[in-house]
Amino acid sequence: MIKIYNTLTRKKEEFKPIEPGKVSMYVCGPTVYNLIHIGNARPMIIFDAFRRFLESKGYEVNYVSNFTDVDDKIIKKSIEEGVESSVISKRYIEECKKDMEGLNVRPATTHPLATEEIDGMIDMIQTLIDKGYAYAVEDGTVYFEIEKFAQYGKLSHKNMDDLQAGHRDIKVTGDLKKNDFDFVLWKPKKEGEPFWESPWCDGRPGWHIECSVMAKKYLGETIDIHAGGEDLIFPHHENEIAQSEAAYGVPFSNYWMHNGFLNIDNKKMSKSLGNFFTVRDIAEKYDLQVLRFFMLSAHYRSPLNFSDELMEAAKNGLDRIVTAAERLRELVEKSGLNPDAEPVEVTSVPDDYKALLAEAKAFEDKFDAAMEDDANTADAVSAIFELVKFVNVNTDESDNGAYLKAVYDELKKLCDILGIKLKKEEVILDSEIEALIEERQQARKSKNFARADEIRDELLAKGIVLKDTREGVKWEKA
Ligand code: AMP
Ligand code: ZN
Repeated sequence: MIKIYNTLTRKKEEFKPIEPGKVSMYVCGPTVYNLIHIGNARPMIIFDAFRRFLESKGYEVNYVSNFTDVDDKIIKKSIEEGVESSVISKRYIEECKKDMEGLNVRPATTHPLATEEIDGMIDMIQTLIDKGYAYAVEDGTVYFEIEKFAQYGKLSHKNMDDLQAGHRDIKVTGDLKKNDFDFVLWKPKKEGEPFWESPWCDGRPGWHIECSVMAKKYLGETIDIHAGGEDLIFPHHENEIAQSEAAYGVPFSNYWMHNGFLNIDNKKMSKSLGNFFTVRDIAEKYDLQVLRFFMLSAHYRSPLNFSDELMEAAKNGLDRIVTAAERLRELVEKSGLNPDAEPVEVTSVPDDYKALLAEAKAFEDKFDAAMEDDANTADAVSAIFELVKFVNVNTDESDNGAYLKAVYDELKKLCDILGIKLKKEEVILDSEIEALIEERQQARKSKNFARADEIRDELLAKGIVLKDTREGVKWEKA
């Protein structure tokens, strides 16, 4: 039985999908105005692992994760660079996809973009106005009126009377809202900003409405699971609930999952504190599989501290798993079997190995129990470590091939569910690429073109394409 801690009820509940065998899941994605930071990577990795687990149990998962591609920060950056805001968002969506690939986060079934769903947003806002939940003011701004939605606060467990009492003194003059907590559904354009026509004014949508609209369009009026970081509980997810439930009159999401925050050396990550890391920064020092493994080694609801020591520990842990797997692969190959072939049938394992194999398979039960218990990847990783220990003690050249392959299949199965890659790939770190490019520049300067070409070819063999541009040498992964 799969259990999920549901933020809505503050309880672990048995997971019962709306349609047997199918799961609809929406995960709030990043605002694309910059490279994603390692905090953004946490929900991506965690909910990707949970999706893989559900699929391993036979569920068909429709997984939707948006890119917020219209937002103040994107507009600010586009003004700074003197380009259209779509140039900024397209650039960082591409970069985000590269990071996701490095982190072995599978693409969503659909990655909708806010800017491509504006018609749906206008329709939903109109529905909310028609039903009396929203109102437009003089300047064309449309607000959601929270007083009209009696259950407002049910996700964040906030009592609106208390909240408002605290707010009474700080009402902003000139504000046209009826209530401080009324939130924007549509707002008028400002000079130089992207805008769309609407019945209320030329303008753009508020942030919350996009997720309500995309979840409905791609998954339906009621979805199984809605997820994101805990900072989104209030107001973002509270507002999504208000909009969707007011518009359609049915529950918006049956389960709400929220990951805890990632901190750096026990402090909140922030640019001003100088402790801010993008995923790309980490890729300069580590294979991104290490970052994935680091995130999986903690429970997703706990705060997670990031530090050099903890990353080194994750690197060593991952190495232990990969090294055991490689050794086992070699044993399988030596026995004449192909480690990548279909899993062997237990019946083909000789009787005198059956007890040992059962011992290996028992770690899968532990793994499953952990993942079924609110996606406890930390305990699932422990079960993998126990299996690795078993492998190191109970496999060698003298063992039966089918048995070795069956144990390898088991290890691979569990690692696949968490998205841990077992084969060491030829990983080339960004810092190594930069060093080789520098060496090539030096070689060219000293007219050693043979060495310069050799470096270019060496990089090409590793999938790195060099481009000589006016601003210097640029590289990209082919
Ligand atoms: P944003 O682009 O800020 O909307 O964030 C995209 C996703 O990353 C959301 O689910 C956030 O909750 C999550 N997120 C942002 N910062 C952190 C952090 N430091 N730790 C964990 N999750 C985060
Ligand atoms: Zn959202």
